Amino acid sequence: MDQKMFCYQCEQTAGCAGCTGSAGVCGKTAETSRLQDQLVGAMIGLARAAEGVECPGDGVYRTVIEGLFTTLTNVSFDDDAIRAQIEKTHREKERLLAAPVKREAKAAGMDNSSAEAARDTDDYNLGLLWDLDPDIRSLKSLILFGLKGMAAYAYHALMLGASDETVNQFFLTGLREIAKEGTIESLLPTVLKVGEVNLTCMAMLDAANTGTYGTPAPVSVPLMVEKGPFIVVTGHDLKDLELLLKQTEGKGVNIYTHGEMLPAHAYPELKKYPQLKGNFGTAWQNQQKEFADIPAPILFTTNCLMPPKKSYSDRVFTTEVVAYPGMVHIDDEKDFTPVIEKALELGGYPEDRQFTGINGGTQVMTGFGHGTILSVADQVIDAVKTGAIRHFFLVAGCDGAKPGRNYYTDFVKQTPADSIVLTLACGKYRFNDLDLGTIGGLPRIMDMGQCNDAYGAIKVAVALSEAFGCEVNELPLSFVLSWYEQKAVCILLTLLHLGIKNIRLGPSLPAFLSPNILNFLVENYGIGPVTTPEEDLKALLG
Ligand code: SF4
Repeated sequence: MDQKMFCYQCEQTAGCAGCTGSAGVCGKTAETSRLQDQLVGAMIGLARAAEGVECPGDGVYRTVIEGLFTTLTNVSFDDDAIRAQIEKTHREKERLLAAPVKREAKAAGMDNSSAEAARDTDDYNLGLLWDLDPDIRSLKSLILFGLKGMAAYAYHALMLGASDETVNQFFLTGLREIAKEGTIESLLPTVLKVGEVNLTCMAMLDAANTGTYGTPAPVSVPLMVEKGPFIVVTGHDLKDLELLLKQTEGKGVNIYTHGEMLPAHAYPELKKYPQLKGNFGTAWQNQQKEFADIPAPILFTTNCLMPPKKSYSDRVFTTEVVAYPGMVHIDDEKDFTPVIEKALELGGYPEDRQFTGINGGTQVMTGFGHGTILSVADQVIDAVKTGAIRHFFLVAGCDGAKPGRNYYTDFVKQTPADSIVLTLACGKYRFNDLDLGTIGGLPRIMDMGQCNDAYGAIKVAVALSEAFGCEVNELPLSFVLSWYEQKAVCILLTLLHLGIKNIRLGPSLPAFLSPNILNFLVENYGIGPVTTPEEDLKALLG
């Protein structure tokens, strides 16, 4: 390809085709893009070196999980950090190749050197992928982007001490698949396998979150920022939030969640900290506006990080794999003192300040995880049987900057009064401050949590299908999803793996779906783009 860069992994890709100039729409430079591709190529080399190795080891798994997460949209803009990750990946490969005789070599009666000769462990040139036949490129992109999304979830689970050998091994298998010759027939099962393994990964993260922080319970979260020093925490990593809460105890510094951190308020072991006061702001794409003049530091624990504007760049702190050149990075020691000192220096607002959601609401609710919804399953089932609840909509997924996302606000506003809207991920900020009333004591909008809590939505759907003795596709349940980055890709693949049909996807369809692969999804899964709220509601309600 004769372009400065090529990246089409997210929804805002240039011209709905691919970012190819000096920088992507997200602000990622061509050099950062090249390094990210190089990192993926190095991880494929590592995965090849690990083929047939009985125990590649936690170091290999962690390197791959970190590396994939690093290349997710809006995570790392730091070329030095990406170069360091490439070097780390090479070191892991060298360690593997120098290890004592491997299982397959033993079986074949070979020593290490002859086993190596029989296998290509070179880094893969990802440029080859972008130049493939469109259908093969499309399927391999689905595998790669699905793995990237799953890596984010595996990383958060790992931070809580949870790991799964099937998930870890599949990262290596999937990476190897990208470099192999493939046909549509040979690649499709791997695409769906990403979805299957991601279900295991999300279940692992769900168990790690609830095992560590308790079962989420419904809670009303204020959108008021109290006077005095405060810190805004954004991203998905609950462990980072917990560590910050511990380190701010008794310091007179309040903590406010932002974006995907909102559901933290529902976990008993996080909610118990009195300085966790409320939520500030909305979804990631509004950060440059929302952070411009707040008298407080912002800690990014994961994506989505946008290039910080000058107006607040001295107040941005990153941690984990999130990085931006010139911003202070909190390393693995997790000493948040610089963030806390910044909060004390800035001092916060002199008086309490009331903020609102996009629709003017002054509080939002969260905490309707599968534990809560299934605890009132009988009530829900009765409401469906009596006709009090006619339909469930899962209106979920990422928010984003491109026009057309008002669709989701309008859709939710127009859902009939006898329907329930389940939601999760940051797309909910479009409507989570609306008061749509209740049905049988249940709020009509129920926030199930972060994007990874799609696992909870699946659990609820399966439980309902068992209660009604039908397939999930036969339930009065519709999936209306919004996507932006690669975590949405792995969740979509999980839904396809489960055979969920008639998903509405928007605001635009992924550029990496070739016409033939899109046709396959339409014909086999009934997947379709969102149109207008009126038309979609009419079609979904039948
Ligand atoms: Fe473009 Fe998205 Fe890639 Fe950024 S991540 S370069 S916006 S496709």
